[in-house]
Amino acid sequence: MVSLEFVVGDALLVLESVAKTFGGVQAVKDLSFKVHAGQVTGLIGPNGSGKSTTVNLISGSLPVTQGSIRFNGEMVQGLVISQRVPLGLARTFQTTTLFQEFTAFEHVLNACHSAFRSSPTWAVLRTAAARNEEYVQQQKARELLEFVGLGDFSNAAVASLSSAQQRLLMIATALASDPQLVLLDEPAAGMVAKERKALSQLILNIRDRGIAVLVIEHHMGLIMEVCERIVVLNFGQMIAEGTPDEIRANPLVIDAYLGSTH
Ligand code: ADP
Ligand code: MG
Repeated sequence: MVSLEFVVGDALLVLESVAKTFGGVQAVKDLSFKVHAGQVTGLIGPNGSGKSTTVNLISGSLPVTQGSIRFNGEMVQGLVISQRVPLGLARTFQTTTLFQEFTAFEHVLNACHSAFRSSPTWAVLRTAAARNEEYVQQQKARELLEFVGLGDFSNAAVASLSSAQQRLLMIATALASDPQLVLLDEPAAGMVAKERKALSQLILNIRDRGIAVLVIEHHMGLIMEVCERIVVLNFGQMIAEGTPDEIRANPLVIDAYLGSTH
């Protein structure tokens, strides 16, 4: 369990003038926004507006072309993904990226072990910790599966899980690294109403554990329900930022959505 040492509303992640170019395509342009500790922030926008690219830049899956990304006071734009995870940044992907041959439990346990081995505790307490490691990590994996609602599916093969369950498993796997911020790229994709409702509650429960969430989602109902703040992109640029009520009433946002083919 993460301790609540931060002040809710402190800037945890700060993007300043971030840009990303793919060949001639400007996927993200001059993008600046903040994600606050203890809050759920939504990142929305029509298809192709640069949401996934933004998450890739924040997580370190892609290098920035320009600009800076500060996480917890530290400049991280020069770090690769494996260097950002131990700092407390974790993510899920728009498409599921799971090891299909594992059981759900093995999948999360594996992530718990990796997280533990890259933690400072491991370096300092190597021998004493090694004795307890297996038990502690197994408990942690079980707790995370319960937490995301997969407690009854621990021993199920990943390949046998529904697509909604695989999305929950991606979240449990991301949480295994004890993040301070988790990035969720379209977690509700392919979910039916009941599953989406459970996901909304899970996102709020993640926040209540003291973990900030940045969520990309097309389902407006979910976004409006769970987010404290929303950042809106269009053609790679931020066109609005505010509370759900402010975003709902913003003419630029309405235009972007009505004007898009999405
Ligand atoms: P969103 O997630 O909002 O739908 P993306 O971030 O995936 O949007 O894409 C933004 C723009 O960048 C699109 O025009 C897309 O075609 C382009 N793009 C994204 N990733 C790549 C890539 N790896 N190579 C080339 N172009 C890309
Ligand atoms: Mg996307």
